[in-house]
Amino acid sequence: MDTEILRPTSQADFARAADLIRSGALVAFPTETVYGLGANGLDAAACARIYEAKGRPSDNPLILHVSDLAMANQVTSYMPPFAAHLLTAFAPGPLTVILPKAAHIPDIVTGGLPTVGVRCPDHTAARRFIRTAGVPIAAPSANTSGRPSPTTAAMVHADMAGRIPLILDGGSCRLGVESTIVDCTEEGIVTILRPGAITCEMIAAEFPTIEVRMDAALTEADETPRAPGMKYTHYAPRVPLTVYAGVGDAVTAALRAEFMRRTAAGERPAVIASNETLTDLGEIIPSEHMYNCGARGNHSAFAASLYDALRHFDESDITSLLAEGTGPDGLGLAIMNRLRKASGGDVRFV
Ligand code: AMP
Ligand code: MG
Repeated sequence: MDTEILRPTSQADFARAADLIRSGALVAFPTETVYGLGANGLDAAACARIYEAKGRPSDNPLILHVSDLAMANQVTSYMPPFAAHLLTAFAPGPLTVILPKAAHIPDIVTGGLPTVGVRCPDHTAARRFIRTAGVPIAAPSANTSGRPSPTTAAMVHADMAGRIPLILDGGSCRLGVESTIVDCTEEGIVTILRPGAITCEMIAAEFPTIEVRMDAALTEADETPRAPGMKYTHYAPRVPLTVYAGVGDAVTAALRAEFMRRTAAGERPAVIASNETLTDLGEIIPSEHMYNCGARGNHSAFAASLYDALRHFDESDITSLLAEGTGPDGLGLAIMNRLRKASGGDVRFV
């Protein structure tokens, strides 16, 4: 199968993508978080193709992408008022709500669960694509299962070429990390299953009467996965990754020592870090073995470049990766969550 990359401009372009969706084919599309691998969310056979194209375990559910609140109501059997308020405040946006599924949503979408994840992306082309298709679009991230999520059409192509007919190209994704997932199945309680750009603090500030909890699987004391899919490897680069987190100078010192130790042992490590850290390490690390994630403490810049960083050395002869972590404030929690998974838990606090 040939895979076309199309930058949609006219309604005819969106109609072509929508026709493919309605015929049961897969179309990758941009959102403000990462690229999605879309199928008609009401067509079980089409959704099965998502699992096949990604090599995704069948118990890892898909998120249904909708163009507006009316479509969100159609895919859920009950929309509690507090969940409707959340969506009114944060949708369109990087927030996925988990709610009881409507009876007509195929089991394959939800991995057999009685609940469904619903999100309305804050991306004009994504919403136009969904609206033109006229059906909710089931879509996980458009990467091969276990790999870093794609944030450009080229990254989608690297994983999906020959497997899908069309990639809608919307340039680089603005945010770069996947949506915040919140469970809304307990009345008045919002449980964060996956951190993202909509933070605990933002929800609590907007809704002081709603209780906001972190899922136990997000705290390091309890690694037992509760949300389906969390038990699988995620976001992994091709070579082992070790993450160093802590105060800037200590991280720089740890990266320097580890880089030198590995180099002396005949390895070829590369370093993903802030501009400040890389400036300090400039004498010992060749520039082609560095990836600059922006100014230290600039979480938005780090998030936007994170998956590009994790894929950047794919075609090189690098044998391992060392990365600088971030603080857990705001978007930092989402970045550290992805880095922890990408490294298989190899995070060192220095
Ligand atoms: P991805 O779009 O690749 O980030 O994957 C979607 C993720 O959403 C899955 O890995 C699940 O963890 C989560 N998810 C989707 N539907 C549900 C649901 N009904 N309950 C809990 N988590 C869900
Ligand atoms: Mg994914």
